[in-house]
Amino acid sequence: MLSEDLGFDPDELRARYRAERDRRIRPDGSAQYRDVTGEFGFYADDPHADPHFNREALHDEVDVVVIGGGLGGLLAAARLRQAGVGSIRVVEKGGDFGGTWYWNRYPGLHCDIESYVYMPLLDELGHVPAWKYAPGEDIRRHARAVGEHFDLYRDACFQTAVTGLSWDEDAARWIVSTDRGDRMRARYVVMSNGTLDRPKLPGIPGIDTFRGHTFHTSRWDYGYTGGDANGNLSGLADKRVALIGTGATAIQVVPHLGRDAQQLYVFQRTPSTVDYRANRPTDDEWAASLRPGWQRERMENFLGIVSGDETDEDLVADAWTGSARLLRKMTAGQDRGSLTPEERERAEELLDFRKMNQIRARVDEIVQDPETAELLKPWYRYACKRPTFSDEYLQTFNRPNVTLVDTADHGGVERVTENAIVVGDREYEVDCIIFATGFQVAMSDMITGRLPVHGRGGTHLLQHWSRGPRTLHGFYCNGFPNLFTMGAVQNAASVNFAHVLDEQASHIAAVVAEAGKRGARWVEPSEEAVDAWVSALGENAEELHRFYLECTPGYYNNEGKPHPRRGFAKGATAFHALLRDWRRNGMDDVMVMPG
Ligand code: NDP
Repeated sequence: MLSEDLGFDPDELRARYRAERDRRIRPDGSAQYRDVTGEFGFYADDPHADPHFNREALHDEVDVVVIGGGLGGLLAAARLRQAGVGSIRVVEKGGDFGGTWYWNRYPGLHCDIESYVYMPLLDELGHVPAWKYAPGEDIRRHARAVGEHFDLYRDACFQTAVTGLSWDEDAARWIVSTDRGDRMRARYVVMSNGTLDRPKLPGIPGIDTFRGHTFHTSRWDYGYTGGDANGNLSGLADKRVALIGTGATAIQVVPHLGRDAQQLYVFQRTPSTVDYRANRPTDDEWAASLRPGWQRERMENFLGIVSGDETDEDLVADAWTGSARLLRKMTAGQDRGSLTPEERERAEELLDFRKMNQIRARVDEIVQDPETAELLKPWYRYACKRPTFSDEYLQTFNRPNVTLVDTADHGGVERVTENAIVVGDREYEVDCIIFATGFQVAMSDMITGRLPVHGRGGTHLLQHWSRGPRTLHGFYCNGFPNLFTMGAVQNAASVNFAHVLDEQASHIAAVVAEAGKRGARWVEPSEEAVDAWVSALGENAEELHRFYLECTPGYYNNEGKPHPRRGFAKGATAFHALLRDWRRNGMDDVMVMPG
């Protein structure tokens, strides 16, 4: 197709994307960030838990220890309970269930996926959320309700971090050690210890010299700002506030800071894509019409659409599904399977250009100052960064007390002094710095080695994985019996991660139930099964690698230096079908019977 027919020039856009990427790539890559330990440890402290909490150490035995009380851990425990497992102990660092929804309580916090498909176990609890996109507070309350409903509080250990796992071969039990001196024994361990739990700070020179107030968005300090998750931050009325970062968190926080702070400076390195939101209260009549099974049907429909499946029905009908359906429109009338990979890539790229043109046009429609509008336009492919949705963020830059400071040409904020932030030749004096700089993504304690796992013969899991993870379907590995991992390693992820976690939880529960029925001594895949799965994951790795190489830097592509990814390329719905099929035909392969 010629550029005149398209209304834009693909070559020009391609070149602009590349130039914008290049000016953001930093030679230090991921090393630009610093860990929140030592003198920076206060950024990760728990402001919600009782600092004087104490309890006796536990030296007992349970059927299952679940590490992590976020949505993944809760789902695993709930599905195991439904499968008839007796004693389930969730061990959680925070003071309650909720995971990311426990830590994050910043003003404006909402889930950006529709609540009816995101909030788990709605059918089971007979609950319909009050909003299409739920406030974080409602999700945290729901997490607690799941804990109550499945009687998980009785055995849970909060404010407790697991410090080691080791397999006792003779007893066929895991020994679980914690930072409270526990030494519990468990037949099974499920690891669901998070992808977004450790806050990340940029290593900005002088950051430790700042004398004003400072905190990370995931540890919001309402004692300083006043107000609550609904806003009304009265403590900021006479404060000059700096917000660093413009990712999915900042998009939700900025409207509140803009409304309530005397002066707000937003320090941006890369603008997010900001699509429309259109949140609305739940329609009572619709809620009353729902019949058992409604949530499963809706979740499957959403996952199918965002995974690119062919379907005419769009139950969620929002900006997520709208973008995904646009692609099908472009190739409508063609059998997508008959396109060559190059033709498909080209069609997808054109769609992407069109989508991003819409996103950029929206900035011009909303932001009055043309210079600010220009800075707020994202120049990269839609899937390079987490898309965001807001009907208030861009509008905030029309306020006279809000200033956008672009830092792209300086690799980010350059320097912090005792009372100011420095970018280029300007110094911005502020009373408070808030870091919306994200998390150490997918760096669970197991992956970093903070939680050592010793399997059969004392083998360390990270040693076993020294040339990359080795699992069957992402769940279990040879030499580490009765250990299940949840998350995004070697399986299929999707934007509705709660749904993905539910499928994983149901799968684990089905395997544990079957092992119980058969009296299996343990569950463990053969090395051959693992080999076969790891090789199968290589498919399409090249194509994905090329895509991320062209992306603007961020955590999706290891700050512009993408690792070759080996994930399940056919998408989440195909992966779930594969698991269902495996449960019917493949279980024998992992069950080790008493002999
Ligand atoms: P992100 O990692 O997405 O964003 C961090 C921001 O900090 C980026 O804008 C980054 O810029 C900026 N930054 C980092 N270092 C510097 C620096 N030195 N100077 C200036 N800016 C800097 O974190 P978020 O907390 O926004 O989001 C994390 C993830 O959490 C999301 O991707 C999403 O998956 C999830 N989330 C989900 C929500 C939901 O509703 N489901 C809501 C909020 C978050 P740059 O892009 O240039 O690196």
